[in-house]
Parts: sequence; C-alpha cells; structure tokens
Amino acid sequence: MSRRLEVDVAIVGGGTAACAAAVALRRAGLTVAVLEKRRCGAGASGVNFGGVRRQGRDLRELPLANRSRGLWDGLNELLGVDVEFDVSGHIKLARSETDLEELERYRLAARDHDLELTMLGANAVHAELPWLGEKVLGASLSPTDGQANPRVVGPAFARLARRMGAEIFEFTPVEAVASTGSGFEVAAGDLTVVSRRLINAAGAGGRLVAATFGEDVPLTPLSPNMLVTEPLPYFVSRSIGVCGGDVYVRQTRRGNAIFGGGRGWQDHDLGLARPSSEQSVDGIRRTLMLVPDLARANVIRTWSGFDGEMPDHIPVIGHSSTTPGLIHAFGFSGHGFQLGPAIGEILAELVIDGHTPTPIEPFAIDRFRDWSPEASSAPDASVHTEH
Ligand SMILES: Cc1cc2nc3c(=O)[nH]c(=O)nc-3n(C[C@H](O)[C@H](O)[C@H](O)COP(=O)(O)OP(=O)(O)OC[C@H]3O[C@@H](n4cnc5c(N)ncnc54)[C@H](O)[C@@H]3O)c2cc1C
Repeated sequence: MSRRLEVDVAIVGGGTAACAAAVALRRAGLTVAVLEKRRCGAGASGVNFGGVRRQGRDLRELPLANRSRGLWDGLNELLGVDVEFDVSGHIKLARSETDLEELERYRLAARDHDLELTMLGANAVHAELPWLGEKVLGASLSPTDGQANPRVVGPAFARLARRMGAEIFEFTPVEAVASTGSGFEVAAGDLTVVSRRLINAAGAGGRLVAATFGEDVPLTPLSPNMLVTEPLPYFVSRSIGVCGGDVYVRQTRRGNAIFGGGRGWQDHDLGLARPSSEQSVDGIRRTLMLVPDLARANVIRTWSGFDGEMPDHIPVIGHSSTTPGLIHAFGFSGHGFQLGPAIGEILAELVIDGHTPTPIEPFAIDRFRDWSPEASSAPDASVHTEH
C-alpha cells in the first residue's frame, strides 16, 4: 500500500550526520523524515576506526571540529547510552626529521585555531609510551582528542530522533528526488515524502543526489582497510597516528587493538567494500614497527566500508548552488565521525536560520563548479590519510 507523508524536512541517508540533524530539527519543533537504505548508522558511521581526532585536520575544518569536540563531552547524557568516548589524547608520531618539522609547522598553525598541541622529543615520547618501536623520533600530542565506539553513536542518534518524534525509515532506499518548486518530493518504493527542505546526507551516495540537481562533484568512494585483534591486556593508552597517515592504532575498552592503513577493495555500485589481504599484511607490518608487542596477537577480523572522498579532502557542506531549500552534507573524506554531532546542529541552523555561526564557506559545493567528469582523471589510491 502506498503512503504519502508531508514533513518540513526530508533527509536522505541515516548516518550520524543525518540522525544528529534529525535530533536538532526535532528540538526546534520541525517535522522530519529520515530515509536510510539499510540500518541507521550502518554505513561509514558504524564501521569507522573510532578516532575522535582534531589533530592533523585541514585547518579549515578546525572550527567545525572544535565545535563538535565540545559536544562529544555531553553525548552520553544526550543519547542516554555510553558511547565509550575516552579522552585518551591523540599522539602523532614522527619517524624522520622531516616529520618533526611538519609536526612543528602544524602545531604553530593549529594554535591560531584553538587547538593546543604539545611537541614531545624522542626521550619524552618513549618515556610516556615505553612499548613504542625504536623508529619513533618524536611526536605531537593533542591531549583533548580521543576515541569512541562508532557502532553505538549513529544508532543512538537515530533512536533519540525517533523518541523525539522523527519518522525514521530503515531499509528504505531513496530512488528519486525532485524539486516541486515549493519543496521536494522524495520517492522510496511505496513511500513518497513531500517536504519543504531536503538534506542530502547520503555519504558516499551524496554525489548521486547532488547530480540529480545539476551539481555533480568529483566524489570517489573511499574504503580504508581496517583490522582488529583479540582482546589483550590494556596498554595502548593513546590513540596513535603517524605523519603520512599510513598506519593508526587504538585499543578499545575491551582490549581489542584496532589498526588501519591503506585502502580496501570496493565496488560502490554493487555496494561491496572489502579489506585487501595485501594492504592488511602491509598494515600489520607497519603496525608492528610501531607497536612490536602486538606481534603475538591474533587478528580476528578485517573490514572496510564506504565514505565519500573529495579531491581536496574536505567535505561538501552548505546550501545547494542550484536549488533553493536543498542542503548538502557529504564527502567527509574519511574523517567525518568526529564531526557528526556538530554537523547535525549546523544542518538544523541552515534549515531554520539559513546560516550558521560556524565558518563553512570552504565546504561550498560550488567550488567544483568548473569540474566535469569527462575532464577528470582517477584519484591516486596510494595516497594515505589518517582517519
Ligand atoms: C573504514 C573507515 C574508517 C574511518 N575512520 C574514521 C575515524 O577514525 N574518525 C573519523 O572522524 N572518521 C572516520 N571515518 C569517516 C567517517 O566514518 C565518515 O566520514 C562519517 O561516518 C560520515 O558520516 P555520514 O553520516 O555522512 O555518512 P554515512 O555514515 O555513510 O551515512 C550515509 C548513509 O546514507 C545512506 N544512503 C546512501 N544513499 C542512499 C539512498 N539513495 N537512500 C537511502 N539511504 C542512502 C547509506 O546507506 C548510509 O547509511 C572512517 C570511514 C571509514 C569507512
């Protein structure tokens, strides 16, 4: 039986960004429908590394990341569930003199964006983390960054949105979206949602939605390669990254060491993202150079997932350049988990006020105005980024 629903705001996608937006919109009294093709929070939001990190971000993202960091402290209370957010600090390791110079340059630049980092020399870093491999020459520490459980956060936002009265439709793939002049019509099987505003928070699928409105962008699917060990006695006390981003490691509260590096294999059209054996073996080798004590641990699972990657590694956030009432938030390029809580609030501000106090100009979709699919070349999959 077909169903027609009228709401103030329809949201395509049910990741953390979408569900956090649904919460913020309900708080303001607007009616909302979230349409998710699988389960809410099962996309990139649920399979990521769990890094809640500001250190190393593009400086243009720091105001956004700072706003989000403020919200992470209150998430357990807001969501009514323990999201396992631990302020373990994030330490970025230098393996060469060039790395040390890069860290110091970033530290100075980040200070102007309210991110205080501390440089540690080789002795200090080995004294703090005595189990580190010998190749580490120094590090930069962000003491207020941390880590959380991604499997909990997205679904918890979705449950809260539902409790607050949002209509959450799971296993509801959006097949067509169209502007009606006064609003939008969103078609998903037997369901048609009519809305005044439309939010495109479809993650790696955001390109398709944007293209429908004449805003195709150079998004490519990004599938980081991830591994996890059996539970071990707790010792990896910080979330760890390196200059170059080719490996990152953390340990969960239950003791599993999670690490990543390189990219998996993926076919976005088929919806398949798989870890690559080659990248996994490389990742293990690089991890053991940093954390030799993991040598006797069993890897119990490897996985990957999809995020949308933009060529400049910053997301698309803001009003559509072609269609009034349409707002985009996708293409988080492998680091949108930390940003999710703030993205929700910002999307609600864009819907309600038309603008947000957080600077989002660098993320405007029209920065790709002159791009065309025909003229572009394939992205370099060998480039590493920390997540
Ligand atoms: C393996 C991996 C590791 C990562 N590690 C980190 C990290 O440590 N720290 C960090 O900050 N970030 C990390 N990221 C990035 C982060 O997970 C993402 O940037 C963030 O979760 C994006 O959230 P989202 O809500 O925009 O997208 P998603 O969570 O992907 O949500 C988008 C949703 O839209 C749905 N959808 C798409 N098309 C349609 C349609 N037509 N109809 C209905 N629904 C649709 C999808 O099913 C999906 O659930 C990582 C990403 C991956 C893949």
